[in-house]
Amino acid sequence: MLNFLGTGSAFNTELGNNSAFVKKETSLILIDCGGTVFHRLQQLKLLEVIKNLYIIITHMHPDHVGSLGDVIFYNHYILKNKVNLIYPNKEHMEQFLLSIGVRGEMYRLISGAEIEVEDEQFRKFSIEYGPVSHTDTIEAYSFMLQLEGKIIYYSGDSNNISLQVLNKLEQGEIDSFYQDTCGLDYEANPHLSFNTLKQLIGKPYREKVYCMHLDQHLQKEEILKEGFNIAEVYK
Ligand SMILES: [Zn+2]
Ligand SMILES: [Zn+2]
Repeated sequence: MLNFLGTGSAFNTELGNNSAFVKKETSLILIDCGGTVFHRLQQLKLLEVIKNLYIIITHMHPDHVGSLGDVIFYNHYILKNKVNLIYPNKEHMEQFLLSIGVRGEMYRLISGAEIEVEDEQFRKFSIEYGPVSHTDTIEAYSFMLQLEGKIIYYSGDSNNISLQVLNKLEQGEIDSFYQDTCGLDYEANPHLSFNTLKQLIGKPYREKVYCMHLDQHLQKEEILKEGFNIAEVYK
């Protein structure tokens, strides 16, 4: 369902910063915009034909917003396009953008916990954010994206999965489930270890689960052997 520009954790430069997209004709939904994302968008020439660009942000770590300013500037100055930015906390996003020189008129910020968008290509789509535990220094969110009749769960960076979300998966209410997964397993881990993922999600539900934000300590074969999928970088 989602295409990925990168699937790596912050230091896994080989896979690029974790970021996903869905494109339909002249509309593009982008999820997160880390340091390597603008370069990837340019490599794939994804922005040129886009009239409506939506960027959903999960949190403010550099591997999720590092090139957000570049993407907004490029749209503003070169493509003459206003980016639609989606983030729950209006004030934090405005402060961040202001501090890197992005002025308010260069983007349209859609904020709140529940967001509905009307787009000419995708028609109606909605995003429902939920807070997740990641680090104790900044806020972080997961979200449920309802798009073209499908429900997608996207964990953002999170070291846990809420019971509510697990129930939805088990009741068949989620079509695709994207989870931040890492090989390392230690106390106060900001990401979800593969060991915990295996404990939380039983075998019958794993075919809908895609591991993403991968570190260097997790082997692809191990993920697949356990019945999970791996988010693949779009070529
Ligand atoms: Zn993070
Ligand atoms: Zn991250």
